[in-house]
Amino acid sequence: MDTFPGERTAIVTGAGSPRGIGRAVAHRLARDGWAIGLLDIDGEAVGALAGEISAAGGRAVSAGVDVSDRAGVEAAVAEVTAGLPPVLALANIAGVSSPVPYLELEDGEWERVLRTNLFGVHYLTAAVAPLMVAAGTGRIVSISSVSAQRGGGTYSKTPYSVAKAGVIGLTRSLARELGPHAITANAIAPGPIDTDIMGGALSDERKAALVEELVVNRVGTVEDIAAAVAFLMSAESGYITGQTLNVDGGLYMH
Ligand code: NAD
Repeated sequence: MDTFPGERTAIVTGAGSPRGIGRAVAHRLARDGWAIGLLDIDGEAVGALAGEISAAGGRAVSAGVDVSDRAGVEAAVAEVTAGLPPVLALANIAGVSSPVPYLELEDGEWERVLRTNLFGVHYLTAAVAPLMVAAGTGRIVSISSVSAQRGGGTYSKTPYSVAKAGVIGLTRSLARELGPHAITANAIAPGPIDTDIMGGALSDERKAALVEELVVNRVGTVEDIAAAVAFLMSAESGYITGQTLNVDGGLYMH
C-alpha cells in the first residue's frame, strides 16, 4: 500500500458555495488530517471557510481565482501552497450548470461552460501535478457528472455534458501518463445532489421527481460525495486509477 506523510496538503477548488460539494469536501479532508488550499471564484467565501477550518483545529489557506484563467490559477496555486506542507492531492470541484437547450445555444455559453468545467480542470492539474511529481506520489479527483454518461438528462444540457465527458477522458489520460510517478487520477460522476447548482435549492416536489429515476429512495448529499473524494484521496486507494466512480443512487448502471 502507498504511504503518505503525516503533513500533506490537498487543493480543493469550488469550495466557496455555502451548501456546495466543495465545502463539504474541504471539511471532510481537514478532518482526515489534510491541510487544505481552498480556491474559488468567490474569494471572500473561501476566506471565511479557511477561518472555519482553522477554528475547528485544521489548517487552511484560501485564494480567490477564476479556474478558467490559466495565469490566475498558476498564481493562486503558488500563493496557497507557499506556506503549506507538500501537495499530494487535488480535488477539481468548481463547476457551473447550463440549462440552455441545444437549439438555443450560443457560442458564449458553450465557451463559458467548457472553459470553467473542462479547461479549469486542466489548468489546475497542470499547475499541481508537478508538485505531486516532486512529492513522489499524488491523488487527482475530478468531479464529472452522470450527465456525461446519459447525454444530459439532468438540469444541465449539452455543453455541460460535453465538458463533463471531457473530464472523464482527461482523467484516463492523466492516469496513464502520471501513473509512473505514483499519482492516481479518478473521476466521480454524481447523480442529483442536494445543492443550489440546479437553479436554486431543490423543492420537495423536485426531489421526489428526481428520486423516481433512482434505485435508492433519496437524492444525494454533499457528504455522499465528500466520502467518495476522501476515499479516492486516501493512501489506501493507490491501486485505483483512471476510473469513474458513480455516486448517483443507481441512476446510471453500466
Ligand atoms: P455549487 O454551485 O454549489 O458550487 C460550485 C462552486 O464552484 C461554487 O463555489 C462556485 O463559486 C465555484 N465556481 C464556479 N465557477 C468558478 C470558476 N470559474 N472559478 C472558480 N470557482 C468557480 O454546485 P455543486 O453542486 O457543489 O457542484 C460542485 C461540482 O459538482 C460541479 O463541478 C458540478 O458540476 C458537479 N456536480 C454536481 C451535481 C449536483 O447534483 N449538485 C451533480 C453532478 C455534478
